[in-house]
Amino acid sequence: MPILVVEDEPRILAFVRRGLEAQGFTVDAAVDGVTGLRRARERHYDLVVLDLLLPGLDGLAVLRELTRALPELPVLILSARADVKARLRGFELGARDYMAKPFSLAELIARVRVHLRAVGAVDHDDVVLHAGPLELDFARRRVRTRGGCADLTDREFRLLHHLARHAGEVISREQLLAEVWGYHFDPQSNVVDVCVRRLRKKLGATSIETVRSVGYRIATS
Ligand code: CA
Repeated sequence: MPILVVEDEPRILAFVRRGLEAQGFTVDAAVDGVTGLRRARERHYDLVVLDLLLPGLDGLAVLRELTRALPELPVLILSARADVKARLRGFELGARDYMAKPFSLAELIARVRVHLRAVGAVDHDDVVLHAGPLELDFARRRVRTRGGCADLTDREFRLLHHLARHAGEVISREQLLAEVWGYHFDPQSNVVDVCVRRLRKKLGATSIETVRSVGYRIATS
C-alpha cells in the first residue's frame, strides 16, 4: 500500500518512513509542497501524510489542490500547529485526519490503518471496477472473469487495476513500472512482463493485449 509523506524536516521524515515501512507500507517522500502535489498526481497513493509548514507551497494549499483533484484520497495532516483553528481549517479543506506534533508513531500508524480500512470498507459497488469482461473487486483483491474467479497478489492486482482504470488506452512498461513498482525500480527490469504473463495465466491469454514496442492494453469490451 503506497503512502506519500510530504515533510520537510529530515528527522521526522526518516522517522515516519521507517515506521511505516516496518509495517509493510511503501513510502514515497516529498520535502516541499510543489513536489508533494506533483507526486500525488503522478502516482496512485492510498494515503497522504501532509505537513503544513512547508517551503514553497504550504500544506493547506497542497491540501486544497489534492481535495479538488483527488477527492477520494485520504489526507492525514501531521503538523506542529495544534490549535483548534488550524485543525478546523484542515478539516474544512478536506483533510481526513489531523495529528499534532510531537506525535506518537504508534498512534500515527494506527490512524493510517483506520483510514485505509475505511477506504476498503465502503459500499461494495464503489469498490468494483469493470473493464470489458473483467470485474475487479478491491476489498477482496479478486477478479471475476467470464470463466470464473481469480485471486491476485497485490502487485498483480495493482497492475491490472492501472490498466483497467485506463481501459482502451495503451499503457507503457515505464508507466506501469513507475505506477506499480515505484520510480526507484530498475527500468531495464522485466518485472512488468513477468507480471503480465502471470495475469494472463490466471485471467486468460487474451485478457491483456500486447501493443508491440509500446506497452499493454485492456480492451473495453
Ligand atoms: Ca515543516
